[in-house]
Amino acid sequence: MGKTQRIAIVGAGLGGAAAAGLLQQAGFQVDVYEQAPEFSRLGAGIHVGPNVMKVFRRLGIEKPLEEMGSKPDFWFSRDGFTGDYLSRIPLGDFAKREYGAAYVTVHRGDMHLLQMDTLAPGSVHFDKRLETITDSGDDVRLTFADGTEARADIVIGADGINSRIREALLGAEAPNYSGWVAHRALIRGDQLAKYDLTFEDCIKWWTEDRHMMVYFTTEKRDEYYYVTGVPHPAWDFQEAFVDSSREEMFEAFQGYHPTVQALIECTEEVTKWPLRNRNPLPLWSRGRLVLLGDACHPMKPHMAQGAGMAIEDAAMLTRCLSETGLTDYRTAFALYEANRKDRATRVQAVSNANTFLRTQEDPAWVFGYDVYEQPLREGIAA
Ligand code: FAD
Repeated sequence: MGKTQRIAIVGAGLGGAAAAGLLQQAGFQVDVYEQAPEFSRLGAGIHVGPNVMKVFRRLGIEKPLEEMGSKPDFWFSRDGFTGDYLSRIPLGDFAKREYGAAYVTVHRGDMHLLQMDTLAPGSVHFDKRLETITDSGDDVRLTFADGTEARADIVIGADGINSRIREALLGAEAPNYSGWVAHRALIRGDQLAKYDLTFEDCIKWWTEDRHMMVYFTTEKRDEYYYVTGVPHPAWDFQEAFVDSSREEMFEAFQGYHPTVQALIECTEEVTKWPLRNRNPLPLWSRGRLVLLGDACHPMKPHMAQGAGMAIEDAAMLTRCLSETGLTDYRTAFALYEANRKDRATRVQAVSNANTFLRTQEDPAWVFGYDVYEQPLREGIAA
């Protein structure tokens, strides 16, 4: 009998965790290597579209996520200065009926925890920062910063925008800084009660060159979250994010609607993140290495679909490997790329342009998509 074939996933973020859960469910032996010593509930929310909820259905976490998160009836877009409505995109029951699942906004740490709970005990290895990766042709050798090593038949690079595995495939190249930053802050729901203002469930305030997206992250509406896009000439910090301040926020959103001013007034802590991206990659896999999520197609976050694309990638890659078996990984990788590249590239372009749902458009192409319903288009093995 031959040895057990193993898949290594590098990175246990939103994409890596989805891939691990789905592949284990499909019967593959999977180990996940994550650089972080543990995960904490960092202050940020996330939109989970019906396209993503359909993948979570397979993982058995659709219901708990729906119960935990806020389910907005609409995505509103409003003019930041006048408050005029620019679009009212129906979600709520409409999303369930038309797109086949709920539209949820939630704390990303809570969602990630649900995802991690789907993984086989002992299959996630923390504090494993990948340093080198060598595809010998027969298998892959991974070495980690703590001096240990591992071997696998194939390796999935789910290691985010600064992916070591992308670097192994295509050479070292820093991502592009887009010229915009995002501020992120969580506000206690009880802080809002003192205002005679309406705080809508899911609203994006826009002006010419900046915006503020705001939504609840819990079913109980006790946590409200905003994330911005604001021009910022250069990112001169070494850190992944830095502290911002209420003063900086007031300055960036001068003249904005009273509701936005109230949110800034309620802000206790706010952080600032550089928005980076990459041009579409010329290849998604080579030999035994394959990429998914931000390692493969990072984007500015303005469509709220970056993690969505990582999770759809995970589902499609699992589908393709199940179809071919692990031994024929080359065909699986070719199939995967052929069935993901157009959609991921389109989402990447629209997200970078920051136009999505600013006006009354039909988002069915994004939300109505079901990765399991797509007829598999043939791919050419590299
Ligand atoms: P990541 O989540 O970045 O995970 C990569 C993992 O790999 C991390 O855990 C990291 O520690 C690990 N890792 C990295 N290097 C190594 C190494 N060498 N060895 C071992 N482990 C390593 N998306 C949405 O769908 N909806 C939203 O509402 C949304 N809002 C966003 C708001 C902002 C401000 C930003 C910046 C992004 C937003 N996104 C959103 C995008 C989303 O966060 C990303 O697209 C998503 O996290 C990508 O998942 P990933 O698993 O590919 O990468």
